[in-house]
Amino acid sequence: MDTPPRVLIVDDDAMVRETLRTCLGREGYTLEFATNGLDALTQATATLPDLIILDVMMPQMDGFQVCRHLRADPLLAQVPIILLTGLDDHDSRIEGAQAGADDFISKPYDRTELRARVRTITRLNRYRRLLEERERRQGAEQEVHRLYQELQRYAQSLETTVSERTQELQEARDRMQAILESLGEAVIVTDAQQIIRYVNPTFTALTGYAQQEAEGQMVSWWRNIHHSTETIDQLLEAVYRGQARTAEVMGRRADGALYDALLTVTPLLRSDQTMGIGFVGVSRDITLLQEANRIKDRFVSNVSHELRTPLSVMTMTAGNLDVFYERLDDRQRRDMIRDLRAQTRLLNDLIGDILEISRLDSQRGEPERTRLDMRLVIEGEANKQRPIAESKGLTWQVVGTEPLMVRGNERQLGQIVRNLLDNAIKYTPAGGRITCEYRLLAPTEDPTARSEQWPGCDLLQNGIWAACRVCDTGIGIAAEHLPHIFERFYRVKAQSNIPGTGLGLSIVKGLVEQHGGHVGVTSAPDRGSIFAFYLPIDFRS
Ligand code: ADP
Repeated sequence: MDTPPRVLIVDDDAMVRETLRTCLGREGYTLEFATNGLDALTQATATLPDLIILDVMMPQMDGFQVCRHLRADPLLAQVPIILLTGLDDHDSRIEGAQAGADDFISKPYDRTELRARVRTITRLNRYRRLLEERERRQGAEQEVHRLYQELQRYAQSLETTVSERTQELQEARDRMQAILESLGEAVIVTDAQQIIRYVNPTFTALTGYAQQEAEGQMVSWWRNIHHSTETIDQLLEAVYRGQARTAEVMGRRADGALYDALLTVTPLLRSDQTMGIGFVGVSRDITLLQEANRIKDRFVSNVSHELRTPLSVMTMTAGNLDVFYERLDDRQRRDMIRDLRAQTRLLNDLIGDILEISRLDSQRGEPERTRLDMRLVIEGEANKQRPIAESKGLTWQVVGTEPLMVRGNERQLGQIVRNLLDNAIKYTPAGGRITCEYRLLAPTEDPTARSEQWPGCDLLQNGIWAACRVCDTGIGIAAEHLPHIFERFYRVKAQSNIPGTGLGLSIVKGLVEQHGGHVGVTSAPDRGSIFAFYLPIDFRS
């Protein structure tokens, strides 16, 4: 229900106030009274009346001043004002109109007219307010609608941004995943709760544990799949202090086999760089590297041992020659000089063999290869060795007529044949026989190609091979030594009186295999040996 209109009556005269109260009281207004201008302004601001009936003649602040103040106040500027003026006071009316008054009533006034005017003005004011209210509400509704649309636009752009960011994140994630999966190092990522969150495929390849087995496990599980748990504990201690560390560790694969790895653990820090949120462990398999290092160390120690032996013999012989020169006869001196020359030759051979081996290992500066006839290489080497064999009382035979076109390095192919012939001469006592035979061999088609005759030919693939074998009737090799004679520095102990380095056969095997071929041996003590090698035929003309 509507509240009754408020009418503020401003007059310093109590009689006038009373008269107006009586006149308007029954009309259903809420009447308020002020006795001076200041009081009127204070009350109007507090109650926001629907009409102000204002006496012109008041002490201190007259009705015009009050009127001007009211109009200047944005809150009260619209409140209707009726000025009470003297009868026919024309000037007051003009001044009142200028001050912003809406209507004038002259004293003495007609009560009916007053009531009618007050009613009209308060009603009009109510309508004005209602209109204002409606406009305000409409404005507010439009504003709400506008805000709603703006909000929807914002939500839409937010959605687009979110989906773009999600897409970007997904792409970044995919990129990261692809990088991690293509790494040659095993990677594990843990979270702040010490749970393994990710392992890459190389981790599985290195440790034998599948991704599903590892992900979700605690860090302690990962610690325990290492053989060197103490080192792991030290690394973990450092990483939980926020420091990265690298160490060589030994891991145990799922199948129990051990491997050497170079492991780096790096803390994952939150962007504020204080709180750890896990760590990343990256391990590289260095088993082969370690093995290569061990082989190299063994090789170096063997080489220095082998070099020292002839050197110490030479030092001693040269010393004796020097000290006892006058006391020695010519024959003794010549023997000692011959000894010196033999040791020099041995040293020279040894250095040559070592250089060949280091060339084989490094595979650097691979010697030039050409298409050549292996028959000529074999015949050439055999001719060089024949006088040595014959001077030792050995029967010498070379069997073969076919040209054997292969692709290779002439010096290296010559060395293969030389080493085998050299061994046959060395390990066959006087009266024995040495046969060097070469031919084209198609092992799968040739019934004569049996491994007792052509050792190793059963391991050859289809096709035609340039085959060469050196047979002797010498001291032979016992079965337990056969698997080792192609190893570096391996020598059969019982034959240590025969000079040698233990490198010749390993060079033969290395060179043959580097040329795409195979080697084979069959031997028995006192029954002689057959050493064979096979090289792929080069069919191009
Ligand atoms: P070495 O310099 O000792 O001859 P190799 O690598 O050529 O070194 O040979 C390795 C070992 O194999 C020799 O020490 C020897 O015991 C054995 N061996 C090689 N060839 C023959 C052969 N034709 N008859 C008997 N034993 C041989």
